[in-house]
Amino acid sequence: MADDSFSALLISNALIANLDTLGYEKMTAIQAQGLPHVLAGKDLIAKAKTGSGKTATFGLGLLNKINPRFFGVQAMVLCPTRELADQVGKELRKLARAIPNIKVVMLCGGKPFWPQKSSLEYGAHIVVGTPGRIQDHLDKETLNLEGLKTLVLDEADRMLDMGFVEQIHKIISKTPKTRQTLLFSATYPDTIEKMSRRIQQDPITVTVESEHQSEVIEQEFYLSNKRSRHKNLLALFEHYQPKTALVFCHTKIQCNEVAQFLRDKNIQALAIHGDLEQRDRDQILLRFANHSCSVLVATDVAARGLDIKSLEAVINFELPHDPEIYVHRIGRTGRAGEKGIALSLYTDSERIRVSGIESFQNRPAIVGDLNRLKRDANFFMQSPMVTIQLDAGRKAKIRPGDILGALTGDAGLSFSQIGKIDIFDRVSYFAVARDSLPPVLDYFTEGKVKGRTVRARRIG
Ligand code: AMP
Repeated sequence: MADDSFSALLISNALIANLDTLGYEKMTAIQAQGLPHVLAGKDLIAKAKTGSGKTATFGLGLLNKINPRFFGVQAMVLCPTRELADQVGKELRKLARAIPNIKVVMLCGGKPFWPQKSSLEYGAHIVVGTPGRIQDHLDKETLNLEGLKTLVLDEADRMLDMGFVEQIHKIISKTPKTRQTLLFSATYPDTIEKMSRRIQQDPITVTVESEHQSEVIEQEFYLSNKRSRHKNLLALFEHYQPKTALVFCHTKIQCNEVAQFLRDKNIQALAIHGDLEQRDRDQILLRFANHSCSVLVATDVAARGLDIKSLEAVINFELPHDPEIYVHRIGRTGRAGEKGIALSLYTDSERIRVSGIESFQNRPAIVGDLNRLKRDANFFMQSPMVTIQLDAGRKAKIRPGDILGALTGDAGLSFSQIGKIDIFDRVSYFAVARDSLPPVLDYFTEGKVKGRTVRARRIG
């Protein structure tokens, strides 16, 4: 077991004293496992999620190497979204308080370019930003990365999902080979491994098993008889009214049936299971992740490809036999410190599954009373966003920024109306707020992205 006190680390006393003022008493698991390697200058692959203390893992590493007297960019953190970049920037500034005059500059899209340019001219030690805007600064030669010592890719899997791969490689080609590269990712698809081989040297891998955070997940079990399961599922929706929910079923037939039942009851739900074509499955996962589908009914296997940040409720239409699968299922809610609910229906003959879960979690199950649930006959669920598919993608050199530019420029949308953008080889998808659908479709009857006319079609 690694020593979990920060004082065991080879970092300056000033940094340690500052951690004290921040109330960081001991290292989190990712810090205890990752920091010694990071401080030894090794490249790192860290499988860790937001909420694990990952920012301080790379933050302390990069700060420890900064020379405050040299006013050039010495560390860069690439993030998939502006929100994450803001969060990272805030945490780095807190950690950097220990060292006088450290400048952290944020370089994200959706913000005016020129103030960023002048901040860079004044001298920045650390830049945090999204790939599109960082590329713009490199293109305009307002950013110089020749003095870079540490490169961090945060939520690398999400950046790849969003189609940033080529851009990331282009950015990296402007950095010195001697840099230290730290790669953080919640999931490990082959694409991440491939990327690591291209940009890292002898990386050390550390994995922090996601803690189940059972204390932030409210778990309730409801005894139902077999025939009333559908009706009782509806009662759970009406009472808890989650904004997003993942409903687990055993079989594909059950998935289809439950999704249809929910749709009949005005709850917009989609079913996903192994029998669907890969393309359809990807589209459904994408629509769930970008909030243009609020309820997904899935088998365990089909839900594997799902990586979303906030999911309010996990509902077990039927409990799994294996308690470990139960814990894995409910671990999809209550992430990143948010509260989540896990609701389970079980029948009399499935009581044994509930006791298995109790002993696995070493805590008693809370059994709710279906008769006490508040019913709401007018309840309906409709996703806040809709998805538009464009018939052009990576091969047509479309980047997220191009779509964003078309939507906020000529189509007249504001940033708040635009959701996730996903770019694939030949198609792209973006989510827009339901009420902004007419102007978007209108724009694409003749509108262009990156100078070319593209066809747009609503898929959800
Ligand atoms: P992150 O995973 O980097 O987003 O961190 C999650 C939260 O944990 C942030 O609010 C940090 O300020 C906080 N944090 C990080 N490391 C520690 C620590 N060792 N002790 C207490 N809080 C921490």
